[in-house]
Amino acid sequence: MNTIYLILGGNLGDRKTNIDKALRLIEVSLGHLLKVSKYYQTAAWGNTQQPDFLNLACVVATDKNVEECLKIILAIEQQLGRVRLEKWGARLIDIDILYFNNDIIATENLTVPHPEIANRKFVLVPLCDIAPEFVHPQLQLANRQLLDGLKDSLEVLEYMMRRD
Ligand code: AMP
Repeated sequence: MNTIYLILGGNLGDRKTNIDKALRLIEVSLGHLLKVSKYYQTAAWGNTQQPDFLNLACVVATDKNVEECLKIILAIEQQLGRVRLEKWGARLIDIDILYFNNDIIATENLTVPHPEIANRKFVLVPLCDIAPEFVHPQLQLANRQLLDGLKDSLEVLEYMMRRD
């Protein structure tokens, strides 16, 4: 069994519904959801002239290997009608692999741990909800330590659900 850590995000349409649909598809095709973070609202990174993102991290127990996981994740993005017009542009749903066990992977298709983990508060804040003590296999620091050492000044706010 493998343990995969994911970050989900989107800033178009009904962001929470899109993330919730992605979580359901992850359960159906990838494996058992062990933990799910709170939802966080984050100012867009890179191009700031676009709507805020909603982000969430989760950890999944899966019997798939990492290449199979990537294929499944890309299929889920497609199924949810992801449109991508520009790098760092608006999108319905984006799913990235943060960690895969303690593996260090560098292939044409995949870089794991995700190379931007240590630079991005919108990744580390939700990740610390679900795995504060998990140690980054290259940096040899826990997620909590990476977050404490971060200079990223973007606001990452807990997303308060509306009561309908
Ligand atoms: P993007 O949609 O901009 O996140 O890019 C998706 C592509 O990035 C995928 O097709 C992967 O081949 C590649 N990629 C490289 N490393 C990762 C990773 N850790 N998680 C997800 N995609 C990755």
